[in-house]
Amino acid sequence: MNIFSEVKEHLTARQAAEYYGLKVKRNGNACCPFHDDKHPSMKIDKNYHCFACGVGGDAVDYVSRMFGLSQYDAALKLIEDFTLPVEVRGNIELNIQEKERIHREKEERERIAHIKERFEKWCSQTIDRLRNCILEIDDVNHFLIGKPPDIIFSEDYAQMLHAEPVINYWLDILCMGEVSERQELFLKDRKKVEEIAGRVCAGRKRIMGCSRGSA
Ligand SMILES: [Zn+2]
Repeated sequence: MNIFSEVKEHLTARQAAEYYGLKVKRNGNACCPFHDDKHPSMKIDKNYHCFACGVGGDAVDYVSRMFGLSQYDAALKLIEDFTLPVEVRGNIELNIQEKERIHREKEERERIAHIKERFEKWCSQTIDRLRNCILEIDDVNHFLIGKPPDIIFSEDYAQMLHAEPVINYWLDILCMGEVSERQELFLKDRKKVEEIAGRVCAGRKRIMGCSRGSA
C-alpha cells in the first residue's frame, strides 16, 4: 500500500476539509472554496465534488488543491497535521515530477562520470605515450653519436630537439599538475599532443631506419 491509499484509509475529504476551515452542513453540502460559491454547490463526504465548477477528488486531492501542493506533499501534510500512523520513510511513494527529477540527476551524474573516465584514461595513455617519445628521442641521441653532420642536421632531428622541452612540460602537467591544468591540456592541446608524438615516432623511424640502411 502506498501513502496515498493509507492516508485515504484514515481520512475522508470531509474531515480534511473541515480541519482546514470548510463549513459543512449536516447533509454534507458546503460552499465550494475553489470558486466564488454563494449557495452550497459542493457535496463532500469520503470524496468531494463541486457541481458548479466541476472539481473533485479525495482528501489528498482536496489538500493539494487547497494549498497548491503536489499530491505527495499534500499527503505528507495530512500525515503531519493529523499525526496519522503512516510510515513515510523507507517506502516513499514518489510523485512523477520527483521521479523525473531523480532520473535527470542520475543521467547527469552518469554523463559527468563518463567524461571523467574518458579524461582520466586520456591522461594515463598520454603519459605513457609522451614518456615513450622521450625514450625515442634518447634513442636517436645515442644513435647519432659520431654520425656525420649531414645525418645529424636533419629536419626530423631538429623537430625532435624542439619537441623535447614541450613534451617534458606536458609530462610535468600530466604527472604533477592540478586537475584544472590537466583539463586545460586535454581541452586545448589534445590535437597538438597527438601531432607532436606522431612526429617524434615517425622522425625516429626515418632517422634510424634510413641511416641503418646506409651505415
Ligand atoms: Zn466549485
